[in-house]
Amino acid sequence: MKQQPQRVSGRAVGAVMFLAALAVTVAWIVIRIFFTTQPAEDEPDANATSASASAVAPRTITAPFDHVVVLSIDGLRPDAVEDAIRRGCPGFTSLLKGPHTLEARTDPDSTVTLPNHVGMVTGRLFKGPQGHNWLPNDLPATIAEGGTLHAAHGSYVPSMWDVAHDHGLMTAMLASKDKFILFDNSFREEQGRPDGTGVDDGARKIDLVGFALRGEGVARKTMAFLDAAAAQGRRSLLFIHFADTDVTGHGRTWDMTPGSAYLACVDRMDALVDGLVRHIDANPALRGRTAIVMTADHGGGAPAGSHTVVDSPLNFRIPFVVWMGDGAAADLYDLSPMRARPAASERMTATGGLPIRNADAGNCALWLLGLPSIPTSTVGAEQDLLAGWSRRAS
Ligand SMILES: [Zn+2]
Repeated sequence: MKQQPQRVSGRAVGAVMFLAALAVTVAWIVIRIFFTTQPAEDEPDANATSASASAVAPRTITAPFDHVVVLSIDGLRPDAVEDAIRRGCPGFTSLLKGPHTLEARTDPDSTVTLPNHVGMVTGRLFKGPQGHNWLPNDLPATIAEGGTLHAAHGSYVPSMWDVAHDHGLMTAMLASKDKFILFDNSFREEQGRPDGTGVDDGARKIDLVGFALRGEGVARKTMAFLDAAAAQGRRSLLFIHFADTDVTGHGRTWDMTPGSAYLACVDRMDALVDGLVRHIDANPALRGRTAIVMTADHGGGAPAGSHTVVDSPLNFRIPFVVWMGDGAAADLYDLSPMRARPAASERMTATGGLPIRNADAGNCALWLLGLPSIPTSTVGAEQDLLAGWSRRAS
C-alpha cells in the first residue's frame, strides 16, 4: 500500500510544500547562475567543476521559437525508434539530431492513453492533490455530465494552451482518437478561464480542434496550420497526436521482430515525421523558427496486445525528443542536471528520483516559445529541461 498523504494535516503539508518549493527555487537559481556564467563555446572550459558541466557543451539558442509542435505518437516504444534509425529511416534520424532521451518515463501510476496525454498538456501527474486526477480512458462524459478536466479535479486545471493563447499565440489540438474531445470540452469559450494576460485573447484556449483517423490526416492539418500561422505572422503552439502505432499494437501486438505489422507502422510514422521536418525546412517562414517536442503516452507489450501493466518497462519506457532543426544532438539528461537518469528497467515512482517524463512536454514547449510555465503545474514547472543550454531572453 502507498502512504496516504491525506493523513498529514493540511498545515504540515503546506509547510513541507513551501520548504520543497524553496529548495527547488534555490537549486534552480544556483544552476541558472552556474550555467549562465559558463564560457562561450569557443573558449577553453578550464574551470569546469561539475560532472554535468564537463559533459555538456554550452550552447545558446539564438531566440525563442515562433512555433512549437508537441507530437505524441501513441504507443511508440523507444526500442522501435532505435530500430528505425538502425534501418536508416529518415524521420526519426532527423528528430534525434536534437536533445533527446530514450529513457523518459510515463506517469508513475498510469500507462494508458488519456491520463498520460492530460499530463503532457497540463504538466501534472495523475495522482495527488496537485495531480490532474483524470482517470477515464474512454470517450469522456458530456460537459454537463462532468466531462471536463476541471470537474474531475475540483478546480480549474490550466493547460499549455492557456499560457500560449493568453500570450496571443495561435493554438491547435489535432488528434486521431475521439476521446481527445476532452480537451475541447475543457477549454471552450464557456469552460476556459478568462485571459488575465495583456490583451484579452478570449476564454477559448484552443483555436483549432481537429480530428483525423490516421496520422497522415493529422500531419496534413498540422502543415496547413503552421503555414497559415506563418503567413499571418502569428506564433503558434500545436498539440498533435498519431494513434496508428497504438492501434496496430492492439491489433497485431507490439511485435519487434523484423517485418512485423508494428514495425511497418513505425516506418509509416517515421515517414510522417520526415514529411513534417521537410515541410518546415522548405518554408523560410518556419525554418529555424519551429521546434518539435516528440514523446509517447506509453510503450506497449505487457500484456502482449496492450499496455496496462504499469510496472512493466515495455510500457513505462518512452522517448522524449526536442528537435530544433539545427542538427545539434545531445543527451537530454546531460542537459537537465536536476533530473535523475533511470536504469532501463527502473520505473521511477513519484517518490523516487525525478526522471524526464512525457508530462514535461507542455512546459518544455512553453520554454521553447519563451513563455512562462503552466500555472499550478508540477512537472517541469521550473522549465529546467535543457537548463544546460542557455536561451537569449525574448
Ligand atoms: Zn495510448
